[in-house]
Amino acid sequence: MDIKQIQLTEEDLLQITRRWQEKLNIKANRIQIMKMKNKWSSCSTKGNITLNNELTKLPKQLAEYAILHELLHLVAPNHGKTFKALLSAYMPNWEELHKELVNAKQSR
Ligand SMILES: [Zn+2]
Repeated sequence: MDIKQIQLTEEDLLQITRRWQEKLNIKANRIQIMKMKNKWSSCSTKGNITLNNELTKLPKQLAEYAILHELLHLVAPNHGKTFKALLSAYMPNWEELHKELVNAKQSR
């Protein structure tokens, strides 16, 4: 089946981020969207989240996962047990999405 993806905008990315921030009751220090070479997203120790502007070209679920992933780093800085438990709680299919996101990166 050919489902046409609705292209996301940068405003959509910010909106998704705001929604998750409310849901998780956490707040990034700053959120910026820019060109990134090797990553889809990142979170600095100061709580600044950077999103790759090309996330707009991916299916919404993958962009959503990337955003949730970075927001959860504000709570759990590494990829340990806590981090994974939180991901599983909020996005049960995150492991699948993670793989898709990594593959999307490789095919660029
Ligand atoms: Zn991470």
